[in-house]
Amino acid sequence: MKASEDQVVEDAAAYQDDDVRIKPSFCSHVFLPLHPQNMADIKKLKSVGICTVKGIQMTTRRAMCNIKGLSEAKVEKIKEAAGKMLTNGFQTAFEYSTKRRQVFHITTGSLEFDKLLGGGVESMAITEAFGEFRTGKTQISHTLCVTAQLPGENGYSGGKVIFIDTENTFRPDRLRDIAERFNVDQDAVLDNVLYARAYTSEHQMELLDFVAAKFHEEGGVFKLLIIDSIMALFRVDFSGRGELAERQQKLAQMLSRLQKISEEYNVAVFVTNQMTADPGAGMTFQADPKKPIGGHILAHASTTRISLRKGRGEMRIAKIFDSPDMPENEATFAITAGGVTDAKE
Ligand code: ATP
Ligand code: MG
Repeated sequence: MKASEDQVVEDAAAYQDDDVRIKPSFCSHVFLPLHPQNMADIKKLKSVGICTVKGIQMTTRRAMCNIKGLSEAKVEKIKEAAGKMLTNGFQTAFEYSTKRRQVFHITTGSLEFDKLLGGGVESMAITEAFGEFRTGKTQISHTLCVTAQLPGENGYSGGKVIFIDTENTFRPDRLRDIAERFNVDQDAVLDNVLYARAYTSEHQMELLDFVAAKFHEEGGVFKLLIIDSIMALFRVDFSGRGELAERQQKLAQMLSRLQKISEEYNVAVFVTNQMTADPGAGMTFQADPKKPIGGHILAHASTTRISLRKGRGEMRIAKIFDSPDMPENEATFAITAGGVTDAKE
């Protein structure tokens, strides 16, 4: 018997009335069932990046009804089946703390900067870095592509990275320079970074379907997702006040997607953002009349917001703008050929 037939038989054997069966995955999430009768539906769900039972729980009925070929009745059945497999959502703080123990930090390449972030860029969260041009957003992104692959503190083993580039500023050669600094094989480093250029905000969203599928397929292998920059295409695709509501709605969908991905697959999500003149600033005594774009939607979605500004020469200053558990401190770092490093006094 061929292996694929084996698989089908095995799946059929495991078939339950619930339409679903439990298969443990790397972080105790549950893979979607592989029963042949449900294969078509599962394919449809996977095509929009829903790969786990947890993923079903994280998607509204309304959003699922919008998936081509899924009727309301079908969605209800899927929801019901998924509901049976997961608890009602409550857990004790102790249980939750056990889950939080899986959280890891990826070093920025600068100890000072890491300290500011409580150890580095955190998994299961969105970290947003915003600042004016040349403040180092893209350089930090490149550095993280390499450092995410290195073993780190508290048993962090390192892993692969996905980089979504909206401004055409990704340079593989920069990764080589940075890999050299860390004494790691350059080709291997490049091999572990999946790169995609997004051309429209819609395309950017579609790429997230692929990202979720990839994270699911290679469970636990990917540690970091970078979007440099998160807002650039939204800015182009939606113009003026008339389209702002629509832009924010689409942005909210994308960010909620990113949040879910970070939690579901225990990865760090790092996004960069631009700034714009604040038209209201003239009315107040604000020292810095510029602010990050994306409004409240982005402000609330980002777990940690870092504002970047230029210092002397290659120095840059990072400031915690908003964090659930870190004080509003500053750190100075430097941008060098080998990526982000500590600033030399
Ligand atoms: P933008 O808003 O335009 O995207 P950014 O915040 O992404 O800007 P970066 O491209 O990350 O800015 O940073 C640019 C800075 O990094 C420049 O000051 C440049 O001198 C420095 N830089 C770029 N490459 C190197 C390198 N190979 N060695 C040293 N410094 C570099
Ligand atoms: Mg940039």
